[in-house]
Amino acid sequence: MLELLLDVCLAERPDVCASRLLPGPCVEERAEPWVAHRPGLTLEGTRCVEAAEAVVPLAVEEVAPGVFVHAGEVALASPENAGDIANLGFVVGEEAVAVIDAGGSRAVGERLYAAIRGRTDLPIRYLILTHMHPDHVVGAAVFAEAGADIVAHEHLPAALAARAESYAEAWRRQQGEQAPIGSTIVLPDETVAGHRTIDLGGRMLEIEAHPTAHTDNDLTVLDRATGTWFMGDLVFDRHLPSIDGSLLGWLALLDELAQRSVERIVPGHGAVTLAWPQGAAPMRGYLEALTKETRAAIARGESMGRATRHLGDDLRDDWQLFDTFNPFNATAAYRELEWE
Ligand SMILES: [Zn+2]
Repeated sequence: MLELLLDVCLAERPDVCASRLLPGPCVEERAEPWVAHRPGLTLEGTRCVEAAEAVVPLAVEEVAPGVFVHAGEVALASPENAGDIANLGFVVGEEAVAVIDAGGSRAVGERLYAAIRGRTDLPIRYLILTHMHPDHVVGAAVFAEAGADIVAHEHLPAALAARAESYAEAWRRQQGEQAPIGSTIVLPDETVAGHRTIDLGGRMLEIEAHPTAHTDNDLTVLDRATGTWFMGDLVFDRHLPSIDGSLLGWLALLDELAQRSVERIVPGHGAVTLAWPQGAAPMRGYLEALTKETRAAIARGESMGRATRHLGDDLRDDWQLFDTFNPFNATAAYRELEWE
């Protein structure tokens, strides 16, 4: 199928340009409204192309029949990776496709779209967002344009709307000028409280909204047919976890979820799959150590400023991106536990 490719440049920097893929029919009239919706861009031209010719499809692995996962880089967002730093997936049923997380920029979302189109022409009916963090949600507009309904936790719209501006500022700072061209935040069409099942034709996905843990809007997706459980950032592998919800809530939720029996999980960062519950053990170890050390520091009467300089430090060698995320985690832990 031919799709519309737009050549756009920054109005204030006409030498900084990018080509952006607009999923759906190659109709030139779609270009102007798309650009008008993104202030600061100018439209230089349009072409009709195959998705895979326009962008480099993301590498995906078929981790179970019909279940595909892309491993994002364990890194911070940069101009080179354009925010391709989270694990993303899609599940193909007999009638439709569901995508799980959309990547940290429009460019990554387009590359995921091209990877899907390289495997199937079935309609992409759902994009399920595991939580609000930008490395998981910024590519969402691509799938909305492809016709997908965006599904997320009931608390995601408020959380994401409150952070949309700071996220946009962060991706410009981290990804440079060119990589984020065309990136926007879109809010979900449907939200989930508790459980929801979606049918892809002969294939049911169970969506479950959880209480506050990594964030206040974590959601998991289980493919019943293969026992593959997309955990979003409720599980980190190799990449130090970041606490943006509740440390104790996260540990309690992990305890509860550890009782479930599944074939494999897909963590939000790191390996494409892990065994369950063993795969979460290293992350759990870090969260438990941080809890214990923080409680001890508070009991000794250490100030937050002093405590956060050493909390969790003995686990530095076990994790990537430790120095980026541990100070935030230590502060979050202290703030949460000082009121126990
Ligand atoms: Zn996250």
